[in-house]
Amino acid sequence: MTMKEAYQAYENRREEWKKNRLSHYWMDQESRYVHPFQIYGNVWYVGDSWVCVHLIDTGEGLLLIDSGSCGATAMLVNAIWEAGFNPADVKWIIHSHGHVDHFGGANFFKKMFGTKLYLGEPDARMFRERPEIAVIQESRNDADYLFQPDYEIREGDVLTFGNTTITFYLVPGHTDGCIACFFDAYDGDQVKRCGYYGGFGFNTLQKDYLIEIGDTAYNTRKVYLESLAKVRDQKVDIFLGNHCINNQTLERHQRQLDHPEGPNPFVDEGQWSRYLDQKRDELLAFMADPANN
Ligand SMILES: [Zn+2]
Repeated sequence: MTMKEAYQAYENRREEWKKNRLSHYWMDQESRYVHPFQIYGNVWYVGDSWVCVHLIDTGEGLLLIDSGSCGATAMLVNAIWEAGFNPADVKWIIHSHGHVDHFGGANFFKKMFGTKLYLGEPDARMFRERPEIAVIQESRNDADYLFQPDYEIREGDVLTFGNTTITFYLVPGHTDGCIACFFDAYDGDQVKRCGYYGGFGFNTLQKDYLIEIGDTAYNTRKVYLESLAKVRDQKVDIFLGNHCINNQTLERHQRQLDHPEGPNPFVDEGQWSRYLDQKRDELLAFMADPANN
């Protein structure tokens, strides 16, 4: 193939890819850049306008929850700098689940800064045994690859990172290895309880998807409901989103900007249980719909 032909083939692939309904997630990611902001005390938002990344300053190093989409690591690094932190101080990354839009920075941080990577044990197993389920192929960049976790999170783990102790649960449903976690955030002498639920999307509950992975009885949907119920009654002052849509991250931030002296819009005690109940009701309706069975 001549250079000219190779270029034409590249252009043809690119034009073809643009027609894919998912391609917009991976192209022009910089259009989703969000200037980082403080959610509460030592908890910051450094994600984009679609997928969340949270930064926790533990006093003895930075902890990230998720590491952004594949292809968006430069944005994440810029957001950490812009928030006033040094990306080299990221000592730990906890991954909500093993999907391509949540672990984009994992290998970069590990190689550059020796960051320790955490992932739910079932998703670590999925990386080894069924890597196609991580959908890294959606990134369309053959240079991307799955990461090797340094620690596989198990049900009931209680782990300490600097001044922050985090309690973990496995909440299978969106993937088998989704994690939920709970920890205290500090603002001076004030403390608020943060709650995080690592994956709500119903894309992995669709009929065709479940049949393809071998769950012909759609058992995953029942497992998802059980996971919601398991952590629904946790006391949570601040619900941190997995995607911005979960807790209206950007709308709440706009309220911070509009009313800087007002109450913190992220402190909302009932929001956790309300949202988990909403997902339960949506899933029950989804399961009742003959089109999904
Ligand atoms: Zn996902």
